[in-house]
Amino acid sequence: MSILVVGSVAFDTVETPSGSGRDLLGGSATHFSVAASFFAPVRLVAVVGEDFGEEHLQAFRERGVDLAGLQRVPGRTFRWAGRYHANLNDRDTLDTQLNVFADFEPQLPEAWRATPVVFLANIDPDLQSHVLEQVRSPEIVAADTMNFWIESKPDSLRRTLGGVHLLFVNDSELRQLTGVWNLVEAGEAVRRMGPRVVVVKRGEHGVLVLDGDDAFALPAFPLRKVEDPTGAGDAFAGGFLGYLASRLPAGARDYRKAAVVGSVMASFQVEAFSLERVRRLTPAEIRGRYEAFQRLTRFGDLEG
Ligand code: AMP
Repeated sequence: MSILVVGSVAFDTVETPSGSGRDLLGGSATHFSVAASFFAPVRLVAVVGEDFGEEHLQAFRERGVDLAGLQRVPGRTFRWAGRYHANLNDRDTLDTQLNVFADFEPQLPEAWRATPVVFLANIDPDLQSHVLEQVRSPEIVAADTMNFWIESKPDSLRRTLGGVHLLFVNDSELRQLTGVWNLVEAGEAVRRMGPRVVVVKRGEHGVLVLDGDDAFALPAFPLRKVEDPTGAGDAFAGGFLGYLASRLPAGARDYRKAAVVGSVMASFQVEAFSLERVRRLTPAEIRGRYEAFQRLTRFGDLEG
């Protein structure tokens, strides 16, 4: 089953303890699309400027991402700059330039309105709502957001969340969104806003999936070297939803496996800058790390 994603396609300037890069291909929808494409067909809704060349489209084309919803308009592509702290879990945003996203009005191709899985990647919540209004009874609507939108457009974000089944959110952003410190209580506060499932991304500490009274937790894959955490959250969502889209109608076991597949994709994402690692992945490498996760987390009964 296909996934439709709306989100940012960007040029990122990133500094990490391992190095730095300027105008790297990034954006929430970019990292999501490439990761999800290993599991399901992806339809991308976004906008880029005149500075976005054929060489940048190549990354999407080689992964078979459908670009019928990608507009190219006069102006500059969205730009983001960030610097990571030594702990790699915290980062400072140095610059956010919306550029062509400031006047973007997404229009879904008619044939895309019935897409069963919709991902509202991190972008202006008004754009997220605009896309949601155009789709017809999707089976799963998931969303992501970040501090920038929680602070600048809280009411719009609340409106978007009213139509969302599954929210991906960082622990610090979950606390900011709800004003609640305890993650379980904060998850309950999010449920009251709309989403039934809350997927709390906790960086190197892994992920916590809260689904009503059910919870599932997983560590991050222990890596010797992390080059650049940018896009880890989007690659996680890409693996998670890509896997779910391949398993519809998805049950509780599928959600647990989806969290593992998301963690697998995030672990590859952080091994190199931009898309350098993920775009070259093979299905065998993905399977290998999934199995490594099984070995990492397997334990027997208390007795016996
Ligand atoms: P992540 O590391 O998964 O949180 O996502 C990082 C990506 O989000 C980068 O590639 C940025 O281009 C993109 N990004 C950063 N800030 C924003 C924003 N305010 N709206 C949309 N995308 C953003």
